Amino acid sequence: MQKAICAKVLSIKCGDCIGKFHKADFSADEDTEFAGHYSLSCSNCGGVLVFVADENIERQGEEGIKRYAENKFRNCNCGGRYIFSFTKITEQNIDVPKDISFSEFRKLYKAPIVKHSCIFCNSFNTIIVNAVKPENFKKKYTLEYSKD
Ligand SMILES: [Zn+2]
Ligand SMILES: [Zn+2]
Repeated sequence: MQKAICAKVLSIKCGDCIGKFHKADFSADEDTEFAGHYSLSCSNCGGVLVFVADENIERQGEEGIKRYAENKFRNCNCGGRYIFSFTKITEQNIDVPKDISFSEFRKLYKAPIVKHSCIFCNSFNTIIVNAVKPENFKKKYTLEYSKD
């Protein structure tokens, strides 16, 4: 069986420039399988390129990953540019009363908010309009995997 190249592909729409793009999502896994995996989004055809960043690049944070990837994988086959979308994770603070049970805590718990930056205008005012499996995404768009 062929290894999955990402968990899902997100369709993201920007609330500021109304641009739309796709981004691979690796969060559904249990950490290790997709460690170091990131994606670039084509600004033209909606295609996605998945790549792996080694530890040296990851240490530079997303700015470094963006620089590395956009330099290395400049253009999509359609002629459009590959652009890196940043991910911002915000923990939601909740007031947890002392001495509550785990099940009570779970009711109060709010998952962190994950925001993706727009590849066209860099705004984080984006929403995920859809999330599809890679095999379904590939029926309409290109989903490439870079080995190096
Ligand atoms: Zn935008
Ligand atoms: Zn393209």
